[in-house]
Amino acid sequence: MEIKSLKSGPVIWLTGAVHGDEIGGIFIIQEIFKRLRKSPLLKGKIYAFPLMNPVGFENVTRGIAITEEDLNRSFPGDKEGTLAERIAAKIFTNITESKPDIVLDIHNDWLNTIPWVEIDPNPGPKNKRAYEKAKLYAFKIGLPIINELEDAAQALNLQRSLSGSLLLNNIPALTLEVGGASTVSSIAREKDIQDGTKAIWDLLTFLGMVKPYKAEFNNQIPDNYKNKILRYSHQPDASKSGIIKYLVKPGQIVKKGQPVAKIYNVFGKLLETLTSQENSLILGHWDYSVSYPGAELISFAII
Ligand SMILES: [Zn+2]
Repeated sequence: MEIKSLKSGPVIWLTGAVHGDEIGGIFIIQEIFKRLRKSPLLKGKIYAFPLMNPVGFENVTRGIAITEEDLNRSFPGDKEGTLAERIAAKIFTNITESKPDIVLDIHNDWLNTIPWVEIDPNPGPKNKRAYEKAKLYAFKIGLPIINELEDAAQALNLQRSLSGSLLLNNIPALTLEVGGASTVSSIAREKDIQDGTKAIWDLLTFLGMVKPYKAEFNNQIPDNYKNKILRYSHQPDASKSGIIKYLVKPGQIVKKGQPVAKIYNVFGKLLETLTSQENSLILGHWDYSVSYPGAELISFAII
């Protein structure tokens, strides 16, 4: 998909469903293009790939169903490589040839999650320009900004994501995790689609590409959680098997030491109480009610 203004300006890419069961981006891209028909682009170009992983989409799987590869860990790709690498190479070449100012790759998380924007690890001095620009744009998007990095191995892995590999090629890129629509069922929630659309439209407005559109976020986050990069954590994990009672909701602010979930056995005996390790914003909780040792139940954004 593409929309071009006669006036030159920024080049934007919107991409969706690189994970085949995360369909929110498809709706958000449709909404943006629908709105652009009523409120024309003032300058620049917007391109979109709404569905990057059609095989995963049809099979309701995150990866490429046939080969079980994660397309979002296959960039920048290889046109002689595996199936995922070939698809990745095609996408990557298409995007980079247009010399984008920013690429926004839209994902979903657990059903019980608020929208947030993820900034990849700093790609180093050679690609500083792209990283600084991505950071600036992340703040204009108005959602909580998360650095998901938890260890060095993960950092290496993220370099093969679409946004990570673009940054390593000095192209600004961000990953938007726009609320629920994930593994349990591919249902995208209307309020998350609205918030994702608003976030992108606000960035386009900042870039002078569109007229402002008055709307409020459905998920209101306190300012002190919006004006800095937050650290992602899913600690503490569960250490017991049992039935989970969640004590917090996505978007809630919790204090260090505050109970966030309890695990009971089938007879109702309390086995474990999980508490927040830091003052944090609850990004979301798992979509299941049965825990096991090591289960990641809650995602925290630590201030
Ligand atoms: Zn994803």
